[in-house]
Amino acid sequence: MTDRKEWIIAMDGPAGVGKSTVGHLVAKKLGYHFINTGEMYRALTWKALREGIDVKDAEALTALAERVRWEFKPTEEGTTLKTFIDGEGVTLQIRDEQVSKHSSTVAGVPGVRRRLRGLQRELGEAGGIVMEGRDITTNVFPDADFKIYLDAAPEERARRRYRQLRASGKEGAIEDILKAMTARDRQDSERKINPLRQAADAFVIDSTDLSLREVADKILDHIRARRGRRK
Ligand code: C5P
Repeated sequence: MTDRKEWIIAMDGPAGVGKSTVGHLVAKKLGYHFINTGEMYRALTWKALREGIDVKDAEALTALAERVRWEFKPTEEGTTLKTFIDGEGVTLQIRDEQVSKHSSTVAGVPGVRRRLRGLQRELGEAGGIVMEGRDITTNVFPDADFKIYLDAAPEERARRRYRQLRASGKEGAIEDILKAMTARDRQDSERKINPLRQAADAFVIDSTDLSLREVADKILDHIRARRGRRK
């Protein structure tokens, strides 16, 4: 662990495991910023689809990632840094089914990952950040002060996504959610470049039988315990 006063807390895990809710709770408690890096891949996918770019065209996607203006601005509540692409905050649109389906393909393009990793490092290098995604503990910040890997049974993750969808007024069958989620997890874990992996030194939490508040408390306890040992 470094002597940085404001730590980098990196968090990874599969789709629908609650990384955003937990990451936000942890960041809020610490007075840090929170950033969900999946939002960057989704924003780029959304932009590509809108511009009629083929999600398999690696060159065009790399050029797009380089060309657009990326901004990250705190939301009103102050903790979360939201992604803006060419001045547009695309929070709602980027949760769209089409975007979810294609984001994993776009995220497999090396040039896209290179560009987004650069942005993620700029955002996080000063510390005071909780950053979540698929390769934050293994690739973006392999030397993060804290590395957390969240996991949960696929059925439970699908149920959580289902409840989330319902809460935002959308419908969807659990079986379809589970199928799409499993396909995306497979693509994210099996891709050649920066796949989803558990870092050897990550603090692993299986949240299947825990509430997301309990998961956040476990992480905060873990941080406090290690902070205590440093004194
Ligand atoms: O986290 P979320 O499910 O919104 O991420 C959407 C997609 O973005 C993932 O399925 C994954 O393919 C990609 N992603 C990634 N690396 C990250 C974050 C997200 O490849 N650090």
